[in-house]
Amino acid sequence: MYKIKAYSANSAISPLAATTIMRRDPTEHDVQIEILFCGICHSDLHQVRNEWSSIMPTVYPIVPGHEIVGRVTKVGSAVTKYKPGDLAAVGCMVDSDRTCPQCKANLENLCPNQTLTFNSPDKHKTAPVTYGGYSDTIVVDEHFVLRVPTNLNLAGVGPLLCAGITTYSPLRRWGVTKGKKVGIAGLGGLGHMGVKLSHAFGAHTVVFTTSPKKKEDAIRLGADEVVVSRNADEMKKHAGSFDFILDTIAADHDVNAYLNLLAHDSTLTIVGAPAKPMPVFAFSLLMGRRNLAGSLIGGIAETQEMLDFCGSHNITADVEVIPIQKVNEAYERLLKSDVKYRFSIDMASLKSE
Ligand code: NAP
Ligand code: ZN
Repeated sequence: MYKIKAYSANSAISPLAATTIMRRDPTEHDVQIEILFCGICHSDLHQVRNEWSSIMPTVYPIVPGHEIVGRVTKVGSAVTKYKPGDLAAVGCMVDSDRTCPQCKANLENLCPNQTLTFNSPDKHKTAPVTYGGYSDTIVVDEHFVLRVPTNLNLAGVGPLLCAGITTYSPLRRWGVTKGKKVGIAGLGGLGHMGVKLSHAFGAHTVVFTTSPKKKEDAIRLGADEVVVSRNADEMKKHAGSFDFILDTIAADHDVNAYLNLLAHDSTLTIVGAPAKPMPVFAFSLLMGRRNLAGSLIGGIAETQEMLDFCGSHNITADVEVIPIQKVNEAYERLLKSDVKYRFSIDMASLKSE
């Protein structure tokens, strides 16, 4: 085991602060990665503040971060896909049981025994729970390490590992292509990736935002239309017209307002994870025989497919690069929807701690 620098929170009301944690020495299938950038996902904030206590209570101290990109520094003797010096990335999972039907179908994201990158029991017992990417280095089994296209700006690659795959996977699964009318609700980290990808898939893409000042950016990111969701008249104009809506909203909201915009037999998929349950009016689904679904990140093979797609289409997240010392301020800005459109931590800043 070896000691590294990291940022952690000690309780739901403590700020994140510098600390040290232990990492395991790479075993035969492990890849050790020096972390260059780590994106800030709203899920980091939900979990640091224990907002998902009923479904995955937070174990403190917590070291968040699951949008990791870096360079390989060491590999175990059985590793075949990576060598020191390669770029590599890690997303929301670092292990799964690999035997269940979901794992066998390349859906590790749906494995009931997956190990998340942070706040999951640590099978290697290096610590009580796994520690994420707000840290110098990480050690991960090579099956859960992704190859990074070399043409992309690395600060904008980290967010592909969560915001990218979480939007890519449902857009693909629900058949988003040219000729479809697609809504993306919420223009934050996930939402802006949803817009870029839906546009790249050729769909007519409509952004729903509560922030009128994001209109111009939405168009620049690839939206064909922008609707201010708090304006009932603007919403009404789109009633019954969408083939698919992806709901990325992080806070409490009325999902019925979006369901009513679906065409018959169409689907609204929730990826946003607000802490509180959201009421669904039965008639929002009955009328038009509509579907309400959910989606959780994506499997490892599909994550690689997404990264390769982004490489060949030159897609990365639009990031505001910050030093780790600004992480608490960034969290406050996330809560005000003041993000353009993902914070990416330059992990070199951790060296001065
Ligand atoms: P984010 O960057 O904070 O973006 C969320 C956006 O939601 C905001 O920028 C804002 O966009 C909109 N919003 C905020 N409050 C709202 C309200 N009261 N009503 C309507 N819209 C509101 O968050 P993120 O990192 O994209 O994550 C979004 C959610 O997805 C989080 O809950 C996160 O935990 C979850 N998540 C789920 C998965 C999964 O696998 N399912 C993976 C990653 C993240 P506008 O300013 O445009 O309104
Ligand atoms: Zn995330």
